[in-house]
Amino acid sequence: MADVLIIGAGPVGLFMAALLLQDGVEAQVLEQRSAPEPQSRAIGIHPPALAALAGAGVAGDLIAEGVQIRRGMALAGGKCLARMSFAGVSDRFPFVLSLPQARTEAHLERRVNELGDGALHRGVRLTRLSDDGGRVSVEADSGSGTLRYSAPLVIAADGVRSTVRALQGIDLRVKEYPDSYLMGDFADGTGFGPDAALFLSGAGIVESFPLPGRLRRWVVRLGAGDATAGGPATGGPSAGHPSADARWLMRCVRERTGLDIDAGTNSMLSRFGVRTRLARRMVAGRVVMIGDAAHEVSPIGGQGMNLGWLDAAALAPIVSAAVRGQEVGGALKTFERTRLRAAARAARQAEINMALGRPLTDRLLALRNRGIAGVAAVPAVNSLIARRFTMQ
Ligand SMILES: Cc1cc2nc3c(=O)[nH]c(=O)nc-3n(C[C@H](O)[C@H](O)[C@H](O)COP(=O)(O)OP(=O)(O)OC[C@H]3O[C@@H](n4cnc5c(N)ncnc54)[C@H](O)[C@@H]3O)c2cc1C
Repeated sequence: MADVLIIGAGPVGLFMAALLLQDGVEAQVLEQRSAPEPQSRAIGIHPPALAALAGAGVAGDLIAEGVQIRRGMALAGGKCLARMSFAGVSDRFPFVLSLPQARTEAHLERRVNELGDGALHRGVRLTRLSDDGGRVSVEADSGSGTLRYSAPLVIAADGVRSTVRALQGIDLRVKEYPDSYLMGDFADGTGFGPDAALFLSGAGIVESFPLPGRLRRWVVRLGAGDATAGGPATGGPSAGHPSADARWLMRCVRERTGLDIDAGTNSMLSRFGVRTRLARRMVAGRVVMIGDAAHEVSPIGGQGMNLGWLDAAALAPIVSAAVRGQEVGGALKTFERTRLRAAARAARQAEINMALGRPLTDRLLALRNRGIAGVAAVPAVNSLIARRFTMQ
């Protein structure tokens, strides 16, 4: 028995739990994994998300551990085409914070445990759910038997393959893209410091972001002929020959940027394809979907996790009001409309980012790069792009 059951202790479910527990709501979180996920996916935390995280008392710890990216640059042929500063995007957080997702989740989990000792139940996988209009009953597999829970409200933050979404029969709008990427973390020998760099190469974009511990993440857009390079399955961690992939990534970075990375320092490697999956609804009776369960957007642009946190920040006061007995039907409708719109906007932004990174012939590349340099040289346009990029 709880006021609210949250399904999934990824970054979004944990943040949702912290917000509710802090407001005195009895929230319980069910998570199928028995231990935290060590794999690093998201690294970028944008200013609006930092403001929301500050409200749950975690932004300070994240900022203390992360790297503050205050500038980005676009390079081609060894020259800097454009620079972008994030100084004007926010008074409080004029930067994008870079921190591996596993570390972010560790801080959020610590905060949840501080606020509600015993609120997080690991090794518990939701398998069934029924909403009788007054309460939602949930069955979950604990590995040693079936557990039963019941609450007036369920919040599903159970990720892209959401069981809750499937059980509720919620349709998705799905769009597949031809793009795929290989990313890896290496020791940083670039001298770029905390700056982000985009290399606009004809063979496909290379993105490079600072990480804590003097590391750097490299993301390369794979071309058609690169599809067999390395061999790991799309969408997951590198399962095949990680060192061969790291060497491939190193050669690719050298060919496209002229920079050397040391394959021997590789600490993470993952290949991923991209798609958009937007749920047609986020609210179904007494069940609300947030985060990737409601909207998967391409990681190129780095907004997925941030989008989910902003869902949670928008939903928390509505849930608190409902628990206090207030009527929240209208507020939930507004929540659903505005958050679905925000997801569609993030998906469009990611589409633009992916289009800019696709392979081009020399002639088209020269034209496009001149266009980017020209547009970025206009201060008003430059600051508008900086704001869009940082979800303002
Ligand atoms: C390569 C890559 C790079 C990315 N980079 C960025 C970035 O820089 N910035 C950004 O904002 N986003 C980025 N993203 C997206 C980001 O990782 C996701 O948007 C984020 O993880 C979504 O969080 P979530 O909590 O909604 O879902 P998840 O992180 O998927 O968490 C869902 C949780 O629910 C649990 N669960 C699932 N089913 C059940 C069940 N039946 N019962 C109990 N528990 C269950 C899972 O075990 C999991 O712990 C990236 C994604 C990828 C793949």
